[in-house]
Amino acid sequence: MTGLILQNVEKYYGSACAVTDVNLHLPAGKLVCFLGPSGCGKTTLLRMIAGLESLSSGEILLDGEDVSHTPAHERNFGMVFQSLALFPHMTVGENIAYPLKLRGVRKAGQQARVVELLEMIQLQQMLDRPVAKLSGGQRQRVAIARAIAAHPKLLLLDEPLSALDAKLRESMQVEIRQLQQRLNITTILVTHDQREAMTMADIVVVLGEHRVQQVGTPIEIYRNPANEFVADFIGSGNIFAAVALGNGQVGLPGGGTLEVPGSAPLVAGAAIKMLVRPEDVQLSPHQAPEGNRLAGTVTFIRDIGATIETTVECGGVSLTSLTTPSQAFGLGVGHPVSITLPAEACRVLGA
Ligand code: ATP
Repeated sequence: MTGLILQNVEKYYGSACAVTDVNLHLPAGKLVCFLGPSGCGKTTLLRMIAGLESLSSGEILLDGEDVSHTPAHERNFGMVFQSLALFPHMTVGENIAYPLKLRGVRKAGQQARVVELLEMIQLQQMLDRPVAKLSGGQRQRVAIARAIAAHPKLLLLDEPLSALDAKLRESMQVEIRQLQQRLNITTILVTHDQREAMTMADIVVVLGEHRVQQVGTPIEIYRNPANEFVADFIGSGNIFAAVALGNGQVGLPGGGTLEVPGSAPLVAGAAIKMLVRPEDVQLSPHQAPEGNRLAGTVTFIRDIGATIETTVECGGVSLTSLTTPSQAFGLGVGHPVSITLPAEACRVLGA
């Protein structure tokens, strides 16, 4: 099978678990993000794939071949670290040529490849410039060019953009994604920035508490989070306690019911957690409750540019709504309001 497969991979440092029970199939040519909070094991997992860290148990297969014990320098994987790890005393050209030199590529071959890569990263004029005299974004591009110089089978990026300011970071995200798609190179990007993962990845692997919590496309993970951890970590969400009534309805803590088709299989009385995304919470002038329309009171309003964030207390739950200014129709704190939670937008979260 092509692509990268991780089977029952785990890593312990002494008795402390860094990451456990990892089973993944990452298809060839895709950009995969390892996303999760600090300390969940993202870097450890990437370093095991790179061969820089041994496995406590499990196997790593690339295109069907077991590489679990192959030394890092024999894997031919390109890697970019947060620190970039460029050689400061070398020129741009020397940095990019370095992995080719290590592999014994002849001088003429090195030069041709460096020219090709400089064109790709649009730094043709910088061949002889010391890397110390480049801007942050230029250094970033050189690090990526060096990582792909020897035509690696896999490109591994460990938070490579975290030192850049927000604007440069965003343009580098687009550049990396375009380059990855043009070269069709299987790439793993480690990040704790959910926006970066959601906008760049074909597949997101959400890690938390030292294990994989969910694997899916960005939209799958956003719309159908597997559990409360993922729902909370990805995007903003209204997460609240409710009780299954056993008939496709749920009861709210302060009274009131909602139609929630996903709750139908649950036994009556089961305590559950619900998710509704703020952009799905609809506001309307105060009316009697009916169906999934509940009566509430506005407790907070915030203007965040093109959208208005309105918090409404209803049914013993505090719900946030994101709307356009006109959909918030001049509401103010203390105003009575009705909110509608469409049945298809109400999700029951797994444990
Ligand atoms: P961050 O986003 O902060 O880099 P991470 O998700 O990449 O975090 P890892 O660096 O993989 O997390 O660390 C996972 C766990 O393993 C952490 O609890 C960390 O303290 C532990 N750990 C990592 N490297 C070592 C080591 N060499 N020795 C002991 N424990 C380690």
